[in-house]
Amino acid sequence: MPLPKAELHLHIEGTLEPELAFELAARNGVKLPYADTDALREAYRFENLQSFLNLYYELMAVLRTERDFEDLANAYLARAAAQGVRHAEIFFDPQAHIARGVAVGTVVEGLARALDRSEENHGVSTHLILCFLRDESAESALATLDAAKPYLDRIIGVGLDSAEVGHPPVKFREVYESAAALGLRRVAHAGEEGPPEYITEALDILGVERIDHGLRCMESPELVARLARDRVPLTLCPLSNVRLRTVDTLADHPLPAMLDAGLLCTVNSDDPAYFGGYADDNFKAVRETLALTEEQLRELARNSFEASFLEDDEERRARYLAEVENYEF
Ligand SMILES: [Zn+2]
Repeated sequence: MPLPKAELHLHIEGTLEPELAFELAARNGVKLPYADTDALREAYRFENLQSFLNLYYELMAVLRTERDFEDLANAYLARAAAQGVRHAEIFFDPQAHIARGVAVGTVVEGLARALDRSEENHGVSTHLILCFLRDESAESALATLDAAKPYLDRIIGVGLDSAEVGHPPVKFREVYESAAALGLRRVAHAGEEGPPEYITEALDILGVERIDHGLRCMESPELVARLARDRVPLTLCPLSNVRLRTVDTLADHPLPAMLDAGLLCTVNSDDPAYFGGYADDNFKAVRETLALTEEQLRELARNSFEASFLEDDEERRARYLAEVENYEF
């Protein structure tokens, strides 16, 4: 049994495995520009964030109906459960679907069909986080939040993802203010490919409670001191960083240095179908390659529950934390 953990940085569209992509393509009459699943896997060799995003958006064409989103979420939850995930806070990208003529309601209702039965079917509790695409306009983000208003009872917070460089957090000040006024929690990708200043902006201007990725904070000792002092969670994704060349090799990953610096790190899978591993695959990889101790792995798991948005159910959080403390490696 893998170490119990919460997954806090997971894009549901990034869990689309080649087999399911072809199954949905056949169901929906969508022609994929790949002969078979092997040819598609060959395309999973990325030069950088943008080359991954190009394929990520291309494959989304197969997601059309509520049932497609339900199947996608169920496939992820089954895999996550097998990897020790007990709680998942799942990102989705409505703008990528709206642009293809798929309404927010189709996406949310479809995902909700799987999420509503996730505890019963997979033993995984869930939250849903709506992400804005930062390479789209601020107006588009505002329109997306507006379109999602009928579904906010199913959404716990907002995030910010996609191509980072050149799209600083400040661009989304207004939509984050609106989200806060609606009672939504706030997170944002920052400091993945973008500079440490984007992390500071996300905290100061967007008021985020967690930073997704954030590993470039290590370039600023002042920022590291602040993140450690304020216990700001960082949702790291080690295998993603290697695949997207954010780090040269896993052995170069700053996770051990970040833990030594007292940062509240968590380990997550980001887009596992594309990056070579789900949550526990990431734990195993850092354990082996970075020689993390069992106590450090336990700390990462504990952090994941502490950083999760379980304030509505502290009894549940305490139960998960007890599972971590009692876990035998
Ligand atoms: Zn991400």
